[in-house]
Amino acid sequence: MSFYHEIKKYAHFDFQSFFAGVTTDRVEAALAKEKLSEQDFLALLSPAASGSLEQMAAKAHQLTRQYFGHTIQLFIPLYISNFCANLCVYCGFHRGNAISRKKLSLAEIEVEAKAIAATGMRHLLLLTGEAPGVTPIDYLEDAVWLLKKYFASVSIEIFPLDEDDYHRLRLAGADGLTLYQEVSWLILNIVYSITGT
Ligand code: SF4
Repeated sequence: MSFYHEIKKYAHFDFQSFFAGVTTDRVEAALAKEKLSEQDFLALLSPAASGSLEQMAAKAHQLTRQYFGHTIQLFIPLYISNFCANLCVYCGFHRGNAISRKKLSLAEIEVEAKAIAATGMRHLLLLTGEAPGVTPIDYLEDAVWLLKKYFASVSIEIFPLDEDDYHRLRLAGADGLTLYQEVSWLILNIVYSITGT
């Protein structure tokens, strides 16, 4: 089951009615749970949860400390392509901008990897624009294999893939995924750890 299939379940979901039915008790119950369901998370996005922001922040803080401790992880981003089919107005890479476009070859990626690794950085975030025709899964897989020779951790911030392709990148050595989905009425910052999947 991919994320796409999960989100598709909500294509005709009546969010307004759901939110209208959420009470503060429902919000409290969600906040008290160890493990939240999808509808618990939705309850926390409802107007009834607006008075519980401090409580949510405290719980988020406690969970962050629980899972990550007092650590700071430094990583360095490496764009291997600036081709993109999208038109996000805030982004210089959007396809309407007449800029020079470049997709690094594997040899060029290795040159960058060596230079970055020489600085002592051990965690890398590999990025592309959204242009699967230019940076297909085979290319990304090769790039991850290559980068894993130089870095303890390689995360990816690319375009959405299906489950099989995520699995390929996982097998190649990718251990983290950042996926930003931004639309005018809602910004979801979905950060999944794919370690162990
Ligand atoms: S999809 Fe990403 S790279 Fe492409 S225009 Fe939007 S923000 Fe920029």
